[in-house]
Amino acid sequence: MNITLKYSKPYSARGALYALLVVLSVVFTMATALSVADFLKILFGDETTGMGAAMSGGNLVTHWLDGLYTWLIGFGRLNALLLFSAIIFVLYSLKNIFGYLSAVEIGIIRTRVVRDIRNDLFRKAMHLPMGYYDRQRKGDVLARFGSDMVEYDENILGSVQMLLTAVISMVLYLAMLFYLNLKLTLFVLCMLPLVAFVISSLSRRLKRKSQTVQEMNSHLVSLTDETIGGLKVIKAYTAIEFSNNRFQEYNRDYTRRRTAMFRRIYAASPISDFLGNLIVVGILLFGSLLIMRGDHGLTADLFISYVMLFVLMIPPAKELTTAIAQIKKGRACADRVAAFLGEEEESLTPDPSPNGEGRGMQVSTPLSIRRGAGGEAVELCDVCFSYTPGVPVLNHVNLSVPRGSTVALVGASGSGKSTIADLIGRFYEVSEGEIRFGGVPVKELALGDLRSRIGVVAQDTLLFNDSVSANIAFGKPEATQAEIEAAARAAQAHDFIMALPQGYHTNLGEGGSLLSGGQRQRISIARALLCEPELLILDEATSALDTENERLLQQTLDRVLQEHTAIVIAHRLSTVVNADRIVVLDGGRIVEEGTHQELMARGGRYSQLVSLQSF
Ligand code: ADP
Ligand code: MG
Repeated sequence: MNITLKYSKPYSARGALYALLVVLSVVFTMATALSVADFLKILFGDETTGMGAAMSGGNLVTHWLDGLYTWLIGFGRLNALLLFSAIIFVLYSLKNIFGYLSAVEIGIIRTRVVRDIRNDLFRKAMHLPMGYYDRQRKGDVLARFGSDMVEYDENILGSVQMLLTAVISMVLYLAMLFYLNLKLTLFVLCMLPLVAFVISSLSRRLKRKSQTVQEMNSHLVSLTDETIGGLKVIKAYTAIEFSNNRFQEYNRDYTRRRTAMFRRIYAASPISDFLGNLIVVGILLFGSLLIMRGDHGLTADLFISYVMLFVLMIPPAKELTTAIAQIKKGRACADRVAAFLGEEEESLTPDPSPNGEGRGMQVSTPLSIRRGAGGEAVELCDVCFSYTPGVPVLNHVNLSVPRGSTVALVGASGSGKSTIADLIGRFYEVSEGEIRFGGVPVKELALGDLRSRIGVVAQDTLLFNDSVSANIAFGKPEATQAEIEAAARAAQAHDFIMALPQGYHTNLGEGGSLLSGGQRQRISIARALLCEPELLILDEATSALDTENERLLQQTLDRVLQEHTAIVIAHRLSTVVNADRIVVLDGGRIVEEGTHQELMARGGRYSQLVSLQSF
């Protein structure tokens, strides 16, 4: 409800217009219903309806009806009936036109609210820290955009739409009923607490039920996602039957709960219908009593109009109860969407410096970290880190990468190499210690600034279904074609790009499926180089390739590394031999450091790794 209010606020002008249109539509509906009294008078004559003096009792409605009657009957009875039909036709059409326009107006608000929330969800998804996704199932996150938003739109927004229209109509109808006859309407109102009680007891448990159903639904998505993602493993272990049974069991339970929920929802409408009928019967009895006792305020034809108006009020009353039930059902989704929107984002601006403003100034001055400039490009000072509290992944790591040099990180898989790279880009925050980039603690650099100064080439490349140029210019959309080509040449990608059907304009297809693994990596390197990064991180950049392609790519990388400050992470040691310094990690600790020759001469962990790999 809160997010509905927040997101519909910008559309309050439209909302006012919508309310006005509903009012007009209801006014014309009431005019139609009230005119029926005149119709009866024209048809049966004054005597039949027992009209006469009582009708000129003095209220506006009776005056209007009287006037209309006098005017119409002047044309003779048949003509009056024809004319009357024409008037009803016009009134009814006006009611429909305004009803349509009001629906359009609120429909526009509804779709825009959905659009705005979706946009914010997407923006939020991109700004959440990587740690968030380690804790969440992918299916749960996807459900926010998919089923949660659909449910939210249908149940909350659809119901709010219904509810607003119903409330406005009912208020107007009630006001008119009061105006027509106070006693009768007070009698009606006495019956309302009964209605309210039945309805609230009906929808009380609905929210909780729908919450479980919704949670089960997102789990269902997760289950499917997991299964399809791991299909090969499932097939390999001939675990198809097991997975299938597990899914079907879950689905059965889910369906059972859903059925129970719908049973409740569908009960809302017939029950309120029943209550409406009950009240109509009450009105008929009580009204007849008043008329028979010769009550002055109520005449037979006015009573007919009164009952007609009341019957008109039943559909909005029904919609009101349905809407309330639906909102209860949708609340769970709305809460989940709101919770996601309220998740803490990684801060893109630097943390406030503990030493006051002095440091902040330093941050904004451009730092050049080029080859030969001297000093340290990156320093890790006594860094500790764990993804989950209590499970240390890095232990007191000290590492410095001098400007212009290439430092290689080697070690068994799981030793924490990629984690170091992630910490430098501040995808996670260190638990202890400090990381400095260009002499400034990364905590004091704006995230966008920090990351734009680091070029990462990882094992798997993220290529989009777009042109080669667009894929290379991903991190620098304003790059000129000449810059793009220069980067491609540096990555030795230019030649094969030119051989593609439309050169740089060739569409790469889904996930870059048009290219070989080595070609994809070259695009990825060109992408990194285009941004002129101060630090290049190659994380297993060649690992996914076969030996021949790896060798070719390595030649490219060797050239690129000569011109950059770089951290090279490699599983295969043949790729790190030429590094200025090799750092050996084991279980999150640095166990050895030195050049290839030094480490080989020492005969420690590194030489062990090398001997394991040379066959
Ligand atoms: P490497 O790159 O050297 O193979 P990583 O840095 O990827 O190793 O991983 C180091 C350790 O941290 C491993 O034990 C791994 O299981 C754990 N780890 C890596 N990523 C995450 C994560 N997102 N959440 C929890 N643990 C993780
Ligand atoms: Mg890794």
